[in-house]
Amino acid sequence: MANVDVIVVGAGVAGLVTADRVRAAGRSVVVLEARDRVGGRTLTEPVPGVDGLVVDSGAAWVAPDHHLLCAELERFGLETTPQAGPGDALASLRGKTRRFAEAGRPLDPVTTADVAQAMVRFGAAAEHVDLAAPWRGHHAARYDAQTFESWIRRTCVTPKGRDYFRLVCEAVLATEPQNVSLLHMLFYARSGGGLLHLVTTGGGAQDARVVGGMQQVSERLADGLGMWVRLQEPVTTIVHDADGVSVHSESGATTAHRVVVTVPPALASSIEYLPGLPHERTQLVQRMPHGSVVKCHAVYSRPFWHDLALSGEIVSDEGPSKVVFDTTPPGSKYGVLTVLVEGEDALRLGVRGPARARTEVLRGLAEHLGPRAMDPVAFVSRDWTAEEWTRGCYGAHLPPGAWTQVGSALRAPVGRIHWAGTETAERWCGYVDGAIASGERAAAEVLAVLP
Ligand SMILES: Cc1cc2nc3c(=O)[nH]c(=O)nc-3n(C[C@H](O)[C@H](O)[C@H](O)COP(=O)(O)OP(=O)(O)OC[C@H]3O[C@@H](n4cnc5c(N)ncnc54)[C@H](O)[C@@H]3O)c2cc1C
Repeated sequence: MANVDVIVVGAGVAGLVTADRVRAAGRSVVVLEARDRVGGRTLTEPVPGVDGLVVDSGAAWVAPDHHLLCAELERFGLETTPQAGPGDALASLRGKTRRFAEAGRPLDPVTTADVAQAMVRFGAAAEHVDLAAPWRGHHAARYDAQTFESWIRRTCVTPKGRDYFRLVCEAVLATEPQNVSLLHMLFYARSGGGLLHLVTTGGGAQDARVVGGMQQVSERLADGLGMWVRLQEPVTTIVHDADGVSVHSESGATTAHRVVVTVPPALASSIEYLPGLPHERTQLVQRMPHGSVVKCHAVYSRPFWHDLALSGEIVSDEGPSKVVFDTTPPGSKYGVLTVLVEGEDALRLGVRGPARARTEVLRGLAEHLGPRAMDPVAFVSRDWTAEEWTRGCYGAHLPPGAWTQVGSALRAPVGRIHWAGTETAERWCGYVDGAIASGERAAAEVLAVLP
């Protein structure tokens, strides 16, 4: 006899949306979450010593075409604030820094032309990718037999053009292009509306932020589920057979007709499945490593970069402070700079510890904004690779061969076990919007087969 209709493993956005939709259909559900909080990769934290100020240490940005996320924001009465602010952004490549306005060009004319021709080729190749089944698309095998780095070397004719695409790869996947299958990069870009869209502020993936923080979406979803979300219950074992599932955590076993596992792929493999999963599935999760990010916030008594007519947005090829945004909340007297340390830089910084991270990140900011950057009133950093229940972000990426050899196991249910999580999304894979889409898909899947 099942305790509930559906068990959801993980109370990130995907898990909470799955449970929300199952409950809305009148079925019973319980969510088992390893952490002592909900939200997973959404995490809004107070800044120590600065009253009332919170920062998004996890997901922050909303695109106008994050339609599912926008619907949740509206449902919960949450507002957004535009990312783009007054002043010029800075782009620093190979020791040369350029100021540019929002609609302007961050690169010199020769590099701009090179990037433009490469973008056209990339876009044309991405058109061939079948979002529902990337392993099946036209040219899939050929694209999946090479890395994004080999494509960059073959396609760009200028050193700065090559650097540009390497930076883009780090900015969207938090890893270097030699680690990523070209097919995956094409899929990921198409999934989010195009490569340029992913790195654009106004109108793109970094268009706006949620006032008060993104984690509120998870918290509001969890509020609606109440006692059916159980925290500090890491799932260790899932026993499944023709009669049902039994999901084990420290507090014992819970039984259900179906289970939806929403934990990131790299962590899904640390759960024991009895009987074991098909080889394809086991292989796939071993071949979906996460990127690495240390997300830092430097809080200043005021946004001093406005004195220099700068917006606070910086892109640089010199680590660790390569990607910087002004994320000062509307109406705040403080100035907040968010620094995204990604890929190898994040791995290196994570090992050196928070104190060294602070010094290195501030030094990087000072190179662009002057010595005032060295003196914040507060500094918050979070190394996502060190997070036991995430182990890296922003999401997973696939190396060559994985999509075409075992990719079809990504969403395919195994008996009574279903899979969700942003990595399983067709649209906005890797983003909160994709997490919501995956939760809705998984909920529909289980609702269709519940007795
Ligand atoms: C630093 C950072 C910046 C980002 N920026 C953006 C952004 O600006 N915009 C955007 O749209 N997206 C962004 N993302 C990505 C976005 O956060 C994710 O796509 C999304 O939150 C993933 O949700 P999910 O539910 O699929 O996975 P998760 O949030 O990872 O949820 C999985 C849950 O499972 C739990 N869990 C793991 N193992 C177990 C277990 N054994 N038993 C029980 N529970 C378990 C975890 O604790 C977690 O709560 C960012 C992510 C990070 C980390």
